[in-house]
Amino acid sequence: MSNDMKKKLKLKVSAIKDGTVIDHIPAKNLFTVITILGLDKIENQITFGTNLDSGKLGTKAIIKVSDKFFENDEINKIALIAPHAKLNIIRDYEVVEKKIVKIPEVIKGIVKCFNPKCITNHEKISTCFSVISKESLELKCKYCEKITSQDQIKMY
Ligand SMILES: [Zn+2]
Repeated sequence: MSNDMKKKLKLKVSAIKDGTVIDHIPAKNLFTVITILGLDKIENQITFGTNLDSGKLGTKAIIKVSDKFFENDEINKIALIAPHAKLNIIRDYEVVEKKIVKIPEVIKGIVKCFNPKCITNHEKISTCFSVISKESLELKCKYCEKITSQDQIKMY
């Protein structure tokens, strides 16, 4: 790819004046990311693209949110479903900061407890897990103490 072309692509990505670009979201999880971040409930200008080519992921999605800057604990909520997500913080059309997501120590809401007998599956109590392994992704339920592992993770 020529340098000119690279420049153009870069411009295309950062073509919001101020805000956040979330890149490298697995395409299949785009709408879950939107829900988890509450982007379906805010009035900021949001553009997204999905099924874009990505060397790393096969296909990826990208979200650009104008005039929105996320707190770390806010953005880390998407780590379970978009572990390779990268954020570009844009001010006056320039990338001023880059962030990566990290799996938090505690996960509230978002994930269902896999134990069908767990109180969180029967009453209006939102789930709370402590992350006991970030590598293999094991979440220990605060209420029933059962462990939900990676292949059992279901989102609300
Ligand atoms: Zn539970």
